[in-house]
Amino acid sequence: MRREMHLMRQVLFFDTTLRDGEQAPGYSLTVDQKVELALQLERLGVNTIEAGFPISSPVDFAATREICKALKTAKTCGFARTLRADIDACAEAMADAANPMVQVASVGSDIHMRHKRSVTPEQVEKETLDALDHARTVGFTDISLAFEDATRGDMAFMTRLIEQGLERGITAIAIPDTVGCCLPEQFRDLIAELRAVVGDDIRISIHLHDDLGLAVANAVAGIQGGADEVQTTLCGIGERAGNTAIEELVAILNSKQAELHCVHDIVTHRLVDACSTLAGMIGLEVPRHKAILGTNAFSTEAGMHQQGILRHRFTYEWLRAEDYGATPRVAMGRHSGRTIVRHRLASSGVAELDERAVDAVYEAISHAVTPEQYESTDVLVAAYRQALDDLATAPAPEPTEVPE
Ligand code: MN
Repeated sequence: MRREMHLMRQVLFFDTTLRDGEQAPGYSLTVDQKVELALQLERLGVNTIEAGFPISSPVDFAATREICKALKTAKTCGFARTLRADIDACAEAMADAANPMVQVASVGSDIHMRHKRSVTPEQVEKETLDALDHARTVGFTDISLAFEDATRGDMAFMTRLIEQGLERGITAIAIPDTVGCCLPEQFRDLIAELRAVVGDDIRISIHLHDDLGLAVANAVAGIQGGADEVQTTLCGIGERAGNTAIEELVAILNSKQAELHCVHDIVTHRLVDACSTLAGMIGLEVPRHKAILGTNAFSTEAGMHQQGILRHRFTYEWLRAEDYGATPRVAMGRHSGRTIVRHRLASSGVAELDERAVDAVYEAISHAVTPEQYESTDVLVAAYRQALDDLATAPAPEPTEVPE
């Protein structure tokens, strides 16, 4: 058998919880909350934190400034349109940043130029190049050129602008699927095509929306196409259906290392905690079936599955809950079988189980209005003892006639 050697590639995580995430309805954060989250994201191992869109509001400006002061190791990014005033606001808010960068958002698609901005491609080109020059003038050395609506964009136009951007010293390009309309295969091809344009030394950052439930799949496809960096959010919050969820992408990179050959800096076991902090701040109710984060993500109630898990955990639980900071749970419910009842009683120290009493407890759980009460060891053991008592005091069965 031929053994293949693969070089591991580093995937960078660019967090946009505090910009794209926070700008969606219902997710507003205070300056203090943003700073707290930024610090938690830094401990999580995120490489770059998009602190905000400083010109958009006084709160965004103040939050960007305070985050830049607080962060020690992570890179901080400010968001700007192709306007000098936006870039000036970034420069001013980010004066104290240890590792500042700016993301300058240009326009990629005709529909956005025509109907959102009422500008011609020539005007976009002129203002974009002016903005890139201005970003350097005010002192930015790490400059990313982003194209809004790139997946519906004009490749020839974007290529022309990227080439001129490279002459002006951009260090990265950012390719968003702004409206979440792209298929993974299309996105992988787009990134591969752009890689050929920019060469190996320019970062390609990707930004995906989940309108079709494909944000995570498209992130994986973009990585396969050659992207270096993925723009993610905690819990996948963001405009409309949200962005690529960091916890899901990390789980994929971790569990599919043999296929994807990627490493990253995320401290995986801190993911659930970081997401819970955000959910608490914005009052987000995480659906119970949500991958990694939902209360059911590592829970099992069905008797058949429980039997498998009790014999060998990885029969159904092949992702380890603890790796992500979650707790696995074998739930007690009407779909559970006798196996879990026996297992729980035995592990609570009940020796020599009486099968008739186990049956009685199993029947009680099957018919209970609130079967989850039996998850408490005290309740379960008490029910078992009661069943034993009932059996002991039950009238003796009628003697059956024994044929002579
Ligand atoms: Mn977005």
